Amino acid sequence: MMGLMMDRPLLTTEILKHAVRNYRNTEIVTRTVEGPIHRYTIGDSAKRIAKLANALKAMGVTPGDRIGVMGMNTYRQFEMYYAVGGISAVLHTINPRLGPDNAAFVINHAENDYLFYDTVFAPLVAALQPKLETVKQYIALTDADHADDAVSGALTYEELIADHSDIVEWPEFDENTAVAMCYTSGTTGDPKGVVYSHRALVLQSFAACLPTAMSMVEGDTFLPVVPMFHVNAWNTPYSCLMIGVNQVFPGPRLDGEGLYEMLDQEKVTFSAGVPTVWLGLLDYLEKTGKKLPHLKKGLCGGAALPEALIRGFEKYDVELQQGWGMTEMSPIGTVNVLPPHLKALPIDERIPHQLKAGRALPFVDMRLVDSVGHILACDGECEGHLQVRGPWIVKEYYKATEPTLTADDWFDTGDVAIIDPDGYLQITDRAKDVIKTGGEWVSSIDIENAAMLHEGVAQAGVIGVPHPVWQERPLLVIVKRAGYDPTAEEIQEFLKTRLHKMAWPDAIEFVKNIPVGATGKILKTELRKQFKDYELPG
Ligand code: ADP
Repeated sequence: MMGLMMDRPLLTTEILKHAVRNYRNTEIVTRTVEGPIHRYTIGDSAKRIAKLANALKAMGVTPGDRIGVMGMNTYRQFEMYYAVGGISAVLHTINPRLGPDNAAFVINHAENDYLFYDTVFAPLVAALQPKLETVKQYIALTDADHADDAVSGALTYEELIADHSDIVEWPEFDENTAVAMCYTSGTTGDPKGVVYSHRALVLQSFAACLPTAMSMVEGDTFLPVVPMFHVNAWNTPYSCLMIGVNQVFPGPRLDGEGLYEMLDQEKVTFSAGVPTVWLGLLDYLEKTGKKLPHLKKGLCGGAALPEALIRGFEKYDVELQQGWGMTEMSPIGTVNVLPPHLKALPIDERIPHQLKAGRALPFVDMRLVDSVGHILACDGECEGHLQVRGPWIVKEYYKATEPTLTADDWFDTGDVAIIDPDGYLQITDRAKDVIKTGGEWVSSIDIENAAMLHEGVAQAGVIGVPHPVWQERPLLVIVKRAGYDPTAEEIQEFLKTRLHKMAWPDAIEFVKNIPVGATGKILKTELRKQFKDYELPG
């Protein structure tokens, strides 16, 4: 017997309509690319979203067309999220840090007819222009007064929408229709396209709003440092509108000082970003002695959350929560919200729990398998390849030429992990970064985290280096914190009290900077190239 309930499609426009009906005065504030602060409300934004939808239709955009955007977190890109998906076209968010070859690849691969871009990226877009095979029109996300002529034949966004009505009749269509797409950062091979459906993003937005996930409420003010150009700023432009959370878009200023200004002036209570962003902010607070009295919580994901960050932000009364996910998971898989009995523990007993990636959101199934595909126990000890499935997890890469899933329809994340009997996920490493030594797996993340606890270490990256006896041994690469001059011996001693013997690095090298990739994470591939012929001492 089937249920006798209405079958209404889960569309992102329903989120917008809900927000307009219930939270029309909720604020959206942007530090614009042009400079000044722009503020308006959800009610105002809905009118401009309608204008854009009408403009796109007038331009000839039809369902399924892929519209490219390479933009900072601003109200204009926010408007694109709702307008493009709302007319059943597909917003292709492009990461400007992919590098010119990959950027051209993804725009051609997605066959974008239109390319919207922030003027800060105009030189990059102009350089790409000769390589772009499908783009018919370029549109700068600005007004006529701020247009420049770097990109030939470009219109401006404000001109494009100016003469169109601010009323639109949103169409209804199948909830499995594509709404957005994003490419993985292509650290191994060409970037792969992940195509999100309305249903997937709506369902993840519901889950993200749970108290066991992002746990924001109406009255909160959220600043996404996570970019709208990569995995939809962790889906927050949708989840914030579900519950009437104010949004503050930092635009082009993502340095410690720039972020501090927006967090402070706009009384931001919740933010989200990768560890490098949080490190930059912490550094700024420590250098200046400034405080953030309004900021209560931050979601830190995309890479392991170092213990030094948890401790550092606790001094400022900011609770950092770890999340884990990936482009292929829209992107949130787990969030670490501690239950009261763990939260009440003294800091040294609590931190080991906070260093885990958290528990799965509802509908995210996780399992561990060994290298031949046998399922392993979630007993807090077995370490294996992490596979997932769920309604917001990729089924197939865009134009895939080989199967994306395992034979029994799970997605292999490429991560190695442990899951404990209470459901907590602990990411050991990416399978390709784990150090295989003497028959054991050593986590590069554990060594990096331990090194980061040393006051003289600003950044740490660990790679495995070939070893004649042990197969691989860890090399620790360090960027010193300004004003400190630690020696390799001092750091070795420091690590001996914090790591088991197999994980003690065989060598430590100091460098001026460690390469980071398109999503702000340490680029191990580059680090490996840099130390390709490295010879371990002794
Ligand atoms: P890319 O790095 O290719 O852009 P994503 O941004 O989708 O891909 O990153 C996903 C990967 O980031 C995960 O598979 C995992 O390796 C890593 N990651 C994300 N969150 C965490 C975390 N909390 N701890 C450790 N690694 C993480």
